[in-house]
Amino acid sequence: MSQISITVDGKQLSVEADQRPTHIFADNKEIVVCKINGQLKDLWTDLAQGDVVEGISISSPDGLAVLRHSTAHVMAQAVQEVYANTRLGIGPPIKDGFYYDFDPENTFNPDDLTKIESAMRKIIKEGQRFRRRVITEAEALKELAHEPYKCELIGIKGPAGEEASVEVGGAELTIYDNLGRDGNPVWSDLCRGPHLPSTKHIPAFKLMRTAAAYWRGSEKNPMLQRIYGTAWPSQDELNAYLELLAEAEKRDHRRLGTELDLFSFPEEIGPGLAVFHPKGGIVRRAMEDYSCIRHEEEGYEFVYSPHITKAALFETSGHLQWYADGMYPPMILDEEYNADGTVKRAGQQYYMKPMNCPFHNLIYKSRGRSYRELPLRLFEFGTVYRYEKSGVLHGITRARGFTQDDAHIYCTKEQMVGELDSLLTFVLNLLRDYGLNDFYLELSTKNDEKFVGEDSDWEEATEALRKAATAQNLELVLDEGGAAFYGPKISVQAKDAIGRTWQMSTIQVDFQLPQRFELEFSATDGTRQRPVMIHRALFGSIERFFGVLTEHYSGAFPPWLAPVQAIGIPVADTFADYLGDVIKQMRKAGIRAELDASDDRMQKKVRNAQMQKIPFMVIAGEEDQKAGAVSFRYRNGEQKNGIPIADAIAEIKKVVQERTQV
Ligand SMILES: [Zn+2]
Ligand SMILES: [Zn+2]
Repeated sequence: MSQISITVDGKQLSVEADQRPTHIFADNKEIVVCKINGQLKDLWTDLAQGDVVEGISISSPDGLAVLRHSTAHVMAQAVQEVYANTRLGIGPPIKDGFYYDFDPENTFNPDDLTKIESAMRKIIKEGQRFRRRVITEAEALKELAHEPYKCELIGIKGPAGEEASVEVGGAELTIYDNLGRDGNPVWSDLCRGPHLPSTKHIPAFKLMRTAAAYWRGSEKNPMLQRIYGTAWPSQDELNAYLELLAEAEKRDHRRLGTELDLFSFPEEIGPGLAVFHPKGGIVRRAMEDYSCIRHEEEGYEFVYSPHITKAALFETSGHLQWYADGMYPPMILDEEYNADGTVKRAGQQYYMKPMNCPFHNLIYKSRGRSYRELPLRLFEFGTVYRYEKSGVLHGITRARGFTQDDAHIYCTKEQMVGELDSLLTFVLNLLRDYGLNDFYLELSTKNDEKFVGEDSDWEEATEALRKAATAQNLELVLDEGGAAFYGPKISVQAKDAIGRTWQMSTIQVDFQLPQRFELEFSATDGTRQRPVMIHRALFGSIERFFGVLTEHYSGAFPPWLAPVQAIGIPVADTFADYLGDVIKQMRKAGIRAELDASDDRMQKKVRNAQMQKIPFMVIAGEEDQKAGAVSFRYRNGEQKNGIPIADAIAEIKKVVQERTQV
């Protein structure tokens, strides 16, 4: 056998020509797939002289995706074993799991999932090898004649969207055969791959739920049945994931929104459009008020802009060119008609705004600007409307109408470095004030294929962002080539109380809009110069941040945000007047305090207050009344007795002022 020389994980090796990565990595059970010359490939791939091979661990992002997608295959195989007349759609990996779309004879029910799971276990135990086979389009159409959805994919092959590309993307058409113990194919699926070497490399999986899904996401297509599942490198990791899901379910802001009477999504208004109830309104206003104060301190100027505009504005900004799908369709206004009903004068198209930036640019442009005015920091709580697909809507964290805490900063090139640095510090400190403390930063850099502006400007801005990020001493993740075409960006990722990561603030440099809007200022030497524009949303949207905080605190907001900060609970009716007077004093001191004057017994009142997650229960009985005092009961059940009224008021005011949690 002849020898070939290859590079494996950076080391030069000479191996026999029939050696494949599966042999080379045989001693390392963690390696389930590999990169050959930078391309993700099966471990069964043939090697050639000079190949650069890199082992990919099952726990890496690529490894997890291959594990999950391979598990989707096993699920599809099991489904067709149990329900023979089921037709196959597609089965891509998704965050934390996978799904597969099916066209079954009957709708799946939860019992079916158990049956499918046990069929999957058998397939996994058998250790069926995934074997790649290249075929022509004609062969594939013949072999898959009984799979109408697969045949459709063969026809579209090219860029059929990200999910479909798992099946047929790439230069050649391939089928993967699962080989049984005797080495003969037992099941096949059209797929681009790659996959695990064999089914026995699936350490732990679980099927989660079923859902209806249109074929290829279009309402015009047939409705299919989707099964979601998850797969992990170990049983422990699967268990930890399931526990996290249970915890997340308890904290789900949609559920707490109802339980705590914060907000709702009335059917009559439409999907993704929330109304805030009085209690949610208090939390929201506390959030906004504090943000306003901090922004004023930082030198921001508050502006307002309308919700709709003529189309021309979004033509200038470019939104209609590359963002029209995300916008609500236009309204045609001011159309004039002749007596016979024909159009005399065409109407104007008006759009609801998906972004505030163009409006702020018009404010900038409303008169000549001098270098003396820069940096100019415009801030608005700007309500925008984006037409999100109903399938991706998620409570108030992903809605169709929401209010951005949107700022645009116009500065000179020389000011940019300092501005980005102080901006990032401001953003992080404000997030900390709301109780988020665990961050990392992501820097998105230029995509060399697609960008506007000068290379030198990009370098300068990217370096400025990198410097600002490094100065924070936080983990910095590079998103190489991930920037939008108009400028580099830093995003702040925050971890919540149960370790989930949320993308919060973004700081985006923009070389394009100042050009499109021909923004200028007169410089010290009297020349006209173009300002740098920085977009910055701190919360993202108020609604989304509200949802994130609700889940972070599990509804037990710190007192400064809590809708009701203190609730008076008399031990018996006889003490209601005394306690009512205390509560009145608290309200006078600016505390959001209420007296529970209902007919419920004391224990029931305590339970209700716990359900409402009210930070301070203010209790009074005979001893308290005699001493001119009250008792505190906290959310964790701890109690503090005999607190003089003035001290009680001072304690509540202190934690509210300091924005601490109790
Ligand atoms: Zn596949
Ligand atoms: Zn903007």
